[in-house]
Amino acid sequence: MSLSRREFVKLCSAGVAGLSISRMCHPGVLHAMTEGAKKAPVLWVQGQGCTGCSVSLLNSVHPRIKEILLDVISLEFHPTVMGSEGHMALEHMYAVANKFKGNFFLLVEGAIPTAKEGRYCIVGETTDAKGNHKEITMMELVRELAPKALATVGIGTCSAYGGIPAAQGNVTGATSLKDFFEQEKINTLLVNVPGCPPHPDWMVGTLVAAWSHVLNPKEHPLPELDDYGRPMLFYGENIHENCPYVELYDNAQFAPTFTKPGCKAELGCKGPSTYADCFKRRWNNGINWCVENAVCIGCVEPDFPDGKSPFYVAE
Ligand code: SF4
Ligand code: SF4
Repeated sequence: MSLSRREFVKLCSAGVAGLSISRMCHPGVLHAMTEGAKKAPVLWVQGQGCTGCSVSLLNSVHPRIKEILLDVISLEFHPTVMGSEGHMALEHMYAVANKFKGNFFLLVEGAIPTAKEGRYCIVGETTDAKGNHKEITMMELVRELAPKALATVGIGTCSAYGGIPAAQGNVTGATSLKDFFEQEKINTLLVNVPGCPPHPDWMVGTLVAAWSHVLNPKEHPLPELDDYGRPMLFYGENIHENCPYVELYDNAQFAPTFTKPGCKAELGCKGPSTYADCFKRRWNNGINWCVENAVCIGCVEPDFPDGKSPFYVAE
C-alpha cells in the first residue's frame, strides 16, 4: 500500500490495528513530515560490509524509502543507489562536505580496515596535484569527512563496533568508528545505530531526531545515548525482560526446536544480554521478529559476533 503524506500522517496520528506510532516510526519522522522541515544533507559511505544495512533502509515501510528521500533527508552520496559514479560522484561528495561543513550527516556503513595503510578497502580513485593516479582508501575518506560533519553515524554493527569484519582472524585490521576516531583524534559527534542489519526505523528515527534538534533545539533535545553510543530511544530496553516468552523462561519451559513456540534459551538465544526494541517494533512491517522463528543472536551488541557465538546450540 502506498500512502500520500497526508494519509501517512493521518494513519500515524490515529494508530492502525493497535499499532502505536512508536511502533511504526519515531515521532520525529512525523514531525519532520508534517512541518516540511528542511532536509538533512547526508553522505553515506561504505567500507567493509555486506550492504545489508543499505538494503534494510530500502525496506523501510513507515515511512517508505521514497518518502524518506523526498521528505526527510537529502541523500547526496550513496555508492549502491546513486545514479552518478566515478570522478563526478566523488567530486559531488567533496563539494557537499565543503558547502555544508558542520551541517551534514556522515553515515558510515561497514568497518574501516586499517592494516596495510587501509589498502584492503579502496573506495575511489583520483589524481594528485602532479596528475598521478591515486587510490582513496576508506581510512582516508573517513579521516577527511568526519571532522567536517555535524555528526557521524555508525550504521550497523560493523562500523559501530567492528562487527563481523573485526571478528576472530581479522587480517585487515578492521576497526570501529570509535576506535578510528580515537586513533585519528577526531572529536566530532559520533552516534551508533548498530544491528546486523539495523532496523530501518532505528536509522531514520535517529537521523530525524538529531536533525529535529538542529532545527529546533528547544523543542527537540538531543536523543540520549547509552554507554555504547546508541540512542536509548531504540536500544534502551532488554530483549529478554520484555520477551513474550519470559514467563516460560522463568518456569523453565524451553522450546526443544526452532519450530516449536516457547523460550529459545536452550537453543542459544542471546536475548538476556541484548538491548533493542525488536520485541515490540518487530521486523518486516511488523510480521515477525527473530525470537519467533529462531533466536536473538545479539546482533546490536559490541561483542557481536565473537562474544555471541555460537549463535545456535544444537542438541
Ligand atoms: S526466547 Fe530468548 S529472549 Fe525470550 S525469554 Fe527465552 S531467552 Fe529470553
Ligand atoms: S532480535 Fe536480536 S538478533 Fe534479532 S534484530 Fe533484534 S537484536 Fe538483532
